[in-house]
Amino acid sequence: MTPTDMLAPAKTSSNGRGEMNAQTLYDKCMALASNLWWMWQPEVSALFRDLDPIRWRQLDHNPIALLKEFTPERLDARATEMVLYSRIHHAYRQLKDYLGGYSSTWSATNAGVLGSKPVAYFSAEFGIHESVPIYSGGLGVLSGDHIKSASGLGIPLVAIGLFYDQGYFKQQLNEEGYQVEDYVDTKVENLPVQQAFDVDGKPLKVCIDTRNGQLFAQVWLMHVGRVRLYLLDCDVDGNSPEDRELTSRLYGGDERTRIRQELVLGVGGVRVLQALGITPGVFHLNEGHSAFAPLEAIRQRMSEDGQSFDDALREVTRATVFTTHTPVPAGHDRFDAELVEEHLGPLRDALGISYEQLMGLGRVEPQDTQESICMTVLGLKLSRRANAVSSLHGHVSRRMWANLWPWRTEEEIPIGHITNGVHIPSWLAHQMQQLYDRHFEADWARRMGEPEVWQAIRNVDPGELWETHNSLKNLMLAFVRRRVSRQCRRRSEGDDVIESARNVLDPNLLTIGFARRFATYKRADLILSDVERLYRMVTDEERPIQLIFAGKAHPKDEPGKQLIKRIANLRHDERFASRVVFVEDYEMNVCRHLIQGVDVWLNNPRRPLEASGTSGQKVVLNGGLNLSVLDGWWAEAYDGTNGFAIGKGTNHASDEIGDTRDAQWLYETLENRVIPLYYHRDIDGLPRQWIRMMMNSIASLAWRFSSDRMVMDYARTGYVPAAGGLSCQMELK
Ligand SMILES: *Cc1c(COP(=O)(O)O)cnc(C)c1O
Repeated sequence: MTPTDMLAPAKTSSNGRGEMNAQTLYDKCMALASNLWWMWQPEVSALFRDLDPIRWRQLDHNPIALLKEFTPERLDARATEMVLYSRIHHAYRQLKDYLGGYSSTWSATNAGVLGSKPVAYFSAEFGIHESVPIYSGGLGVLSGDHIKSASGLGIPLVAIGLFYDQGYFKQQLNEEGYQVEDYVDTKVENLPVQQAFDVDGKPLKVCIDTRNGQLFAQVWLMHVGRVRLYLLDCDVDGNSPEDRELTSRLYGGDERTRIRQELVLGVGGVRVLQALGITPGVFHLNEGHSAFAPLEAIRQRMSEDGQSFDDALREVTRATVFTTHTPVPAGHDRFDAELVEEHLGPLRDALGISYEQLMGLGRVEPQDTQESICMTVLGLKLSRRANAVSSLHGHVSRRMWANLWPWRTEEEIPIGHITNGVHIPSWLAHQMQQLYDRHFEADWARRMGEPEVWQAIRNVDPGELWETHNSLKNLMLAFVRRRVSRQCRRRSEGDDVIESARNVLDPNLLTIGFARRFATYKRADLILSDVERLYRMVTDEERPIQLIFAGKAHPKDEPGKQLIKRIANLRHDERFASRVVFVEDYEMNVCRHLIQGVDVWLNNPRRPLEASGTSGQKVVLNGGLNLSVLDGWWAEAYDGTNGFAIGKGTNHASDEIGDTRDAQWLYETLENRVIPLYYHRDIDGLPRQWIRMMMNSIASLAWRFSSDRMVMDYARTGYVPAAGGLSCQMELK
């Protein structure tokens, strides 16, 4: 099935309503809703919104759920009322052109070798849009941005993931401010997915043998622009009741659940490709979760081509790219050898290798029977090319895994880096895009990964940029107030509380956002180290500040939940009320609102534990400034003129020392640099120096930290050489 087949047949090519009957109109809207391409087309999402703005919001911006509330006749009537015909028709044409426009893409001229041998991209989560809850956070959003850019660049890529029936949890805070997790069943009929079929036209189902029975998975197909994403789902006949729930939740359950999920993703994923008749030229393992995949690819080569294990291993390894995403030890899955044997035993038999040989692939010291099996080690050993996700993370990862290559110096450890980036069309506010449209070269939208394009920001009138930013800030504040008052209503708080929640925050104040997972190393409470000092800043008569927090803690992370509680309960403290708020249920929609409207985005992890971070990159595009520890992407992005740094980019002897110093540095930077710069206005009321910094930030960072640049880097240094094209510097092993 080609991407264009999914489009409903267009009976007319009319611009007016006369020739387009109600059913055709409805089919065109459904076709638009069925490819997530719509989510990065502001005109198309505005079109869905205009059909019914209130329901649109209530339905999590899900166009399929929205359209299901319409009959073709009602839709037709609504389109008449809103004069939507030509917009629907135009959007539909654009989608068709996009899907058929492969030959004019970057890949057609730069990565031709992949044409017949697509990249198979594996990830345990994909954050594509808030209405498709198969992600939990940064890793998923990165995968989503990766495949969106691959689509735009025309990289032949099929993606493999898991279909979670319940996704990640929805977060609510109870009266005490304590996080409560709520799992909601996904309605598959409201998602842009369809059942996948194999080469023989039968519903695709894969089966995986383990030592104690078989595991089955069915497969859903989702279209993300030109990319097809296949999602494995264990809720099928044949599985035990327990296994039917295997893929219900992201990162739920115990070690056993995890290994079974990863078996389905890795081994099941490669079987899906085989059943579809796809022979990948490259396997990209995005994080260790999918590191079993190459083993199944080796088995297939042995059984189809009669290769020996060693030959097949060499070939598959050469075709595999592995990306590691965190230096935090808990982020690297480890399993007991017995658990691995239980799940990979039958595959091991087919490979004809010994128990020791298999376990050795997942151990730093193959002979050390005490060592658990680590998915990152497996990924590193089964890939020819490996990378970290920022320059600093590259250094950290080479040190972290140096024992795998004891004969090499640290610089020679074959782990490179490709810094993460974000999909600009997904994160750029519409108003900001319009500003760029007015001032940038006409084809800027197709050249977002090029530095020259963004220099034009310096020619924009400072007043116009400032006005656009403030208008976005107001939209963000309206969103936050709506959310915060809804939170109060849900907790049945008094009318006066709800009323004041409707008026929290002041658009004239310097507004700082902090939103991310509440893992302790991210230190959400660093700014609370000296509460009195923060209080003085928040209530300063002339130059006060205000703070917006959001983020989830992992359900098992008790310290993280205590942090949330402490911050959320500041609203009961007279001194902070209405100037410090916590927005519940951080996900892509909340993130989008915050990053488009804040003045400053705060990021203060314990260096060097933040591998990259991407939310600050989203802020850049929309004119906000970063105030961040020199960790992850910021360590290579900050140049002294494009934002603010916390610390000097050094590591500390202990957590306590580091926390104290960083807190001090944070307060001083706020008091002496950030706040004065923001409130220093000229006679027109403009903060000229601040606006200059906004321009520096956009001009120097937007292109570099775009996922277009990132995917081009993967293509040039990873995919093309792995597929047998010319090799570039990443080939180090
Ligand atoms: C972008 C994004 C992230 C990643 O941001 P970090 O800087 O890594 O915290 C996490 N969650 C959501 C919902 C996002 O949109």
